[in-house]
Amino acid sequence: MKEPELNPRIELAARRGEEDTVVRVGDVLFGGERVQVIAGPCSVESREQLMGVAASVRESGASMLRGGAFKPRTLPYSFQGLGEEGLRLLSEAREETGLPVVTEALSPGDVELLEEYADVIQVGARNMQNYPLLRRLGESRRPVLLKRAMSATVEEWLGAAEYILYGGNGRVILCERGIRTFERMTRFTLDLSVVPLVKRLSHLPVVVDPSHGTGHSSLVPPMARAAVAAGADGLLIEVHPEPEMAMSDGEQSLRPEEFRALMGSLAPVARAIGRVM
Ligand code: PEP
Ligand code: MN
Repeated sequence: MKEPELNPRIELAARRGEEDTVVRVGDVLFGGERVQVIAGPCSVESREQLMGVAASVRESGASMLRGGAFKPRTLPYSFQGLGEEGLRLLSEAREETGLPVVTEALSPGDVELLEEYADVIQVGARNMQNYPLLRRLGESRRPVLLKRAMSATVEEWLGAAEYILYGGNGRVILCERGIRTFERMTRFTLDLSVVPLVKRLSHLPVVVDPSHGTGHSSLVPPMARAAVAAGADGLLIEVHPEPEMAMSDGEQSLRPEEFRALMGSLAPVARAIGRVM
């Protein structure tokens, strides 16, 4: 059967030839031989929480730290993040651990501040089609972690990447984080088929987020291993010292010791498909 073809108007994000784009973040390369792991809490909550998690994920072999300071919450009553204080804590954690940090921008107005503090700027699922934000990030010197919207087709997702590339910022990392289906037992349906599909259609690196993609911590390790087996260039995993006390996404967060065990189980999977971790 004929393979699906990409809309030919998607030019900059489309694969041209064999060469993959490798996005460099300090010493961390996305899209090379090594599978990278981004780990950390959903939200930055306090110095104690962040420094503890940062040290432990580093110890377990994570190559980047994540943490939200500006949170896109479904309800206005939920914790909205620590804002600039959260960004200061993230830079402090980077200084302590040497791990580059990724955090989310909600609007074009956030970007200048985030450029000061973050190594990578995340576009969340809810903002994948925030075109002013995508255009602003096209002008940025920071790499962008572009999450797939929960109802976006692959072409819409690559179209969003096209905005950033068209603006002149070539450093885009795609992130599959689950899509909405009729299934309610999982928070979203993690669409792992897009890993080989998008790697065929595009030259950009693809990482997988099994935390938001499943919504349940028990499902995260098996789906993380499946993502590596499918050819993902990286993983994004939420880790919290006390998931039951988390201000956001506790049900899907691994404890530091669960994260450590997961990391130990990934290397053989990577090796089996000719990658390293
Ligand atoms: C997050 O990374 O914490 C987040 C809000 O993710 P998403 O945009 O995928 O829901
Ligand atoms: Mn989260």
